[in-house]
Amino acid sequence: MSYELRCRECGKSWGNQPRNICDDCFSPLEVHYDYEALCGPVTRERISARAPNMWRYAELLPLPHNFRVSVPAGFTPLLPAPALAKSLGAKTLFVKNDAVCLPTLSFKDRVVAVALANARSFGFDTVACSSTGNLANAVAAQAARAGLKAWIFIPADLEPAKVLGTQVFGANLVRIAGSYDQVNRLCSQIADGRPWGFVNVNLRPYYSEGSKTVGFEIAEQLGWRLPDNVVVPMAGGSLIIKIKKAFDELIKLRLVEPKPVKIFGAQASGCSPISTAVKSGTSEIEPQKPATLARSLAIGNPSDGVYAIKTIRASGGWAEDVSDAEIVMSIQLLAETEGVFTETAGGVTVGCARKLYQEGRIHPDETTVLCITGNGLKTTDVLGGHYQSEEPIKARMADFEGFLEKTLATSKSLVEA
Ligand SMILES: *Cc1c(COP(=O)(O)O)cnc(C)c1O
Ligand SMILES: [Zn+2]
Repeated sequence: MSYELRCRECGKSWGNQPRNICDDCFSPLEVHYDYEALCGPVTRERISARAPNMWRYAELLPLPHNFRVSVPAGFTPLLPAPALAKSLGAKTLFVKNDAVCLPTLSFKDRVVAVALANARSFGFDTVACSSTGNLANAVAAQAARAGLKAWIFIPADLEPAKVLGTQVFGANLVRIAGSYDQVNRLCSQIADGRPWGFVNVNLRPYYSEGSKTVGFEIAEQLGWRLPDNVVVPMAGGSLIIKIKKAFDELIKLRLVEPKPVKIFGAQASGCSPISTAVKSGTSEIEPQKPATLARSLAIGNPSDGVYAIKTIRASGGWAEDVSDAEIVMSIQLLAETEGVFTETAGGVTVGCARKLYQEGRIHPDETTVLCITGNGLKTTDVLGGHYQSEEPIKARMADFEGFLEKTLATSKSLVEA
């Protein structure tokens, strides 16, 4: 193997096994690669010649020898976003669109794909997770395809589409009357006693590596260049630190020119333990009780929170948070300007980006990428009441002309015509 688990703090090596915490110092484990061996064999040309999915970066993922691709996740579009840029007071703006990541329309498909590859090789016949919704969908779908049994633990109040989008795959769903943080604590206890592969508990170091592919793709799609800034939504804080790790690895392997990238974090004000810490200058997380529409980001005690704070600060970036009203407006703004329908987490990213431009923390001329991580069809409930459904009209020209006149007189849009 050219990779192994090492403790993030004391550096102790733990080989490869389903484990996420160092027994010596109780810090999280991280996958470490033999970069010396990879430098040379891994070239831009070799990567670019491969199929357009996340497995084109296989050497930089923890994949067992017997791994065979069955879920071609990732390689989502990086869209120029000129109309959104104009509305935010920006110039060079891109949207990394994981609203269309396959198979379940969020970036969680990437992390689950790597976790299940390892679950298999560790001999688990059952996989599980605690989830704020998208992870549930991804585990349920990919477990079905891999022929694994799945147990999915969620807070009971998730969006209906995310609940249904788990049940349809035949997964065992456990709805908990409590917050995500309570669900997650229960899962840690279950993982201690049962031979199940919890993708975000005992398989977490492998799982989280899948997030790096967002960073690899951004760089490749910019023509093997790093952006000046990225804006990333944060729940547990894993995606944001792994995008940074991806950029660092590309530099290490000389696949891109070294360059500082400012990392910006985005949260909902109703659950903002990481952005609150960044703004107040502390390096510790004060857990919160979530109260926000953005349920995919509603983690009050983020497990990678301190590392997210460090990453943001060391990069010269910042963190912001937005209200529920701003989240909904931002979902509408992205849809109306760029034709991308994102879920609440994407509204958080766009809303926070708007603030960061206003505050002058992101310079309009710099190249900035917004990470849109999930699909709007999963959270249509938050738009309830925002669009009237008109009485139908008769199929007659006169009725249409009347309707047109009335509509034009009252039309409202976030984008000026
Ligand atoms: C899980 C999730 C995130 C954040 O992921 P973390 O790695 O836990 O910070 C962002 N967006 C969406 C849509 C998610 O489902
Ligand atoms: Zn340790």
